[in-house]
Amino acid sequence: MNQPCHQHAIPRRLVQQPLSELTDRLRARSRKVTGQREAILDVLRRHANPLTNREIHAALRGSGCDLATIYRTMHTLLGMGVVRRCDFGDGVARFELATGDAHHHHLVCRACGMVVEVDDCFPAALEEAIARRHGFVGIAHRLEFFGVCPRCQDPEPGPPKAP
Ligand SMILES: [Zn+2]
Ligand SMILES: [Zn+2]
Repeated sequence: MNQPCHQHAIPRRLVQQPLSELTDRLRARSRKVTGQREAILDVLRRHANPLTNREIHAALRGSGCDLATIYRTMHTLLGMGVVRRCDFGDGVARFELATGDAHHHHLVCRACGMVVEVDDCFPAALEEAIARRHGFVGIAHRLEFFGVCPRCQDPEPGPPKAP
């Protein structure tokens, strides 16, 4: 027996209207999502240091972007490779823009949390040797340095309070 699928049996004009409403809604939603992504990327662009989700949220105050949205968006941007995650060992994820191929590392002050970008990296040959030794391909690394900044070494002006 060759019965028509009941979905195809729905008259076309009944389907059309809700469908266009739906695509309008989807378009509006993707505009909103794109706007949120752009706002977050703009905040990261304007800050020299990697930012936490809460710091991004504070910078976007008044824009209607709630913390849950920022968490979700950062997850997406990470997956897209647009941002990079930094781990400064305090259990809080920080994010910065992933710019081109030239990566850098961070030198973080243990006393005040000041962050310096460091261009130095260990030789590529070392990374290749590590990969070869263990049979890995597509190897990458994360590396952060910690210490006490010049200002925090000087007892005279008084070290700034940790946040
Ligand atoms: Zn310091
Ligand atoms: Zn490196």
